[in-house]
Amino acid sequence: KDDVKGFFRRNAFVIFTVAAVIIGIGLGFALRPYKMTYREVKYFSFPGELLMRMLQMLVLPLLVSSLITGIAALDSRASGKMGMRAVVYYMTTTVIAVFIGIVMVLIIHPGKGSKDEFKNQQKIEQVSPADAFLDLIRNMFPPNIVQACTQQVSPFLFQNVNLDRTSISLTYLYKGNNMTVNDTLFVLNGTQGQHIMREEVIPIPGQVNGVNALGLVVFSICFGLIIGSMKEQGKPLKDFFVCLNEAIMRLVAIIMWYAPVGILFLIAGKIVEMDDITETGGQLGMYTITVIIGLSIHAFLVLPTLYFVITRKNPFVFICGLLQALITALGTSSSSATLPITFKCLEENNGIDKRVTRFVLPVGATINMDGTALYEAIAALFIAQVNNMDMNFGQILTISITATAASIGAAGIPQAGLVTMVIVLTSVGLPTDDITLIIAVDWFLDRLRTTTNVLGDSIGTGIVEYLSRHELQSKDAEMGNSVVEE
Ligand code: ASP
Repeated sequence: KDDVKGFFRRNAFVIFTVAAVIIGIGLGFALRPYKMTYREVKYFSFPGELLMRMLQMLVLPLLVSSLITGIAALDSRASGKMGMRAVVYYMTTTVIAVFIGIVMVLIIHPGKGSKDEFKNQQKIEQVSPADAFLDLIRNMFPPNIVQACTQQVSPFLFQNVNLDRTSISLTYLYKGNNMTVNDTLFVLNGTQGQHIMREEVIPIPGQVNGVNALGLVVFSICFGLIIGSMKEQGKPLKDFFVCLNEAIMRLVAIIMWYAPVGILFLIAGKIVEMDDITETGGQLGMYTITVIIGLSIHAFLVLPTLYFVITRKNPFVFICGLLQALITALGTSSSSATLPITFKCLEENNGIDKRVTRFVLPVGATINMDGTALYEAIAALFIAQVNNMDMNFGQILTISITATAASIGAAGIPQAGLVTMVIVLTSVGLPTDDITLIIAVDWFLDRLRTTTNVLGDSIGTGIVEYLSRHELQSKDAEMGNSVVEE
C-alpha cells in the first residue's frame, strides 16, 4: 500500500498532467455539439489563458537570471567548452531535422499543383539568405537593453502577407504601435475609418511576450562571464542573480500545481473551437501527415538514438522524466512558456546538474527549434509543389539554410514559425500569400513541433552534461561541493 502511495506522491505532477490532457480532450469533444460562440469559448478557456500568462510572466527573469548564474558559476574555459558543445549539438540536430523534412516532403509529395493554380505572377521581392542571416546577427545586439525586454522588429519581414484570410494572433507593428492581427483586420475593414496598406503592416518575429530573447541571451551570457571573472568584486551582483533565480524557481514550483488545470482548459477550449479536421482532406491532409511523420522520426528515432550513442543511457527513461514539460508544450504551443517546467523536469526528475541546465537550456529554448526547422522546410516545399514550381538543388539548399535561420530567429511563442516562414518563401521566390493555405492546420502542427522543440532542447542539455562531466567534476573538486551555491 505504501508503495502505491509512494508512487502517486513521486509522480503526482505527471499523473495530474496526463489526467488533465485526457479530461481536456473528453470535455472538449463533449462540448463541441453545443457550438459555443467565440466569446463563450474565451470565457471557458480563461483558466488556460491564466496559465499561459503566469508562465510567460516568469520567462524574462528566469532566462536572464539562469544564464547569468549558470555562467558565473563556471570559469570561462569550462563555459566556453560547454557553450561550444551546445552550439554544435543545436546546429547538427537542426540540420538533421531540415534534412528529414526535405526528404519526407520529396518522397510523400503532398502538394499536387496544376499549371492553372500557378499563382506566382506578381514579382516577389526576394529576401536573400544573407539578409536573413544579417538580421539574425542584428537581433543579437539590441541597441537598447530595456527596449529588448519589450519589443523586437525584424526589418526583413516587411512583407505583404495576405491578412484577409489569416486568423493567427501575432503582434504586428503599425506606425510604431503594436497591434494584433485582429486589430489590424478591424482597421483594414475600415471600421475605424482608416485604411492600412498591407505593406505597412510588419509581422514581428522573435518576440516572446514582446521580448527580444536572442538579444537578452547574448547580453546575459556576456554579463555572466564578466561577473564570473570579477571574483570578490562581482560577488554582490552574483548573489543577487542567484537569489533572483532561486525565488523564480520557487514561484515555478507553485505554478506547477496549477499547470494541470490550465492545460485541461487550454486543450478543451481548443477542441471546442477548432474547425472540423475530418474535412481537411486532400493535399492539406497529406501535408499534415508529412509533418507528423517527419516530427516523429526526429523525436522518436533521431534524438533518442543520438542520446543513446553518446551517453549509453536509456533515452526513454530520460524522456519519461520530461513528460510534464512535453505535455505543457503540447498544451501551450510555446517552448518559452514551457521553459520553467522544463527546468524543473530536467533538474528534479532527470538530475541534470544545475550549472548545465541554467546555461544550456535557456540558450536552447531561444535558438534551438528542430521541430520548427523541419516544419518550415516541409511547408516551403509543399507550397512550391502546390504552385507546380520545381525546385532545383540550389533552391532546396537555400530553403535549408533559410529554414535553419528562420527557426533560430523564431520566438518560442505560438505560431511564430508561421511568420518566419516568410523569410523561407521569399528566399526562393515562392508566394507568401500561400501561407494562408496551411493556416487551417497550423495550430495543431504548432503544438507538435513545439513539443519536438522542447524535447530537442532537453536531450541536448542531457548530452552536454554528459560530455562536460570532467569539467564539472574538476570544478567540484576545486570548490568542494557539487551544486551551485544555494
Ligand atoms: N511555437 C513554437 C515554439 O514555441 C515556435 C513555432 O511556431 O514553430 O517552439
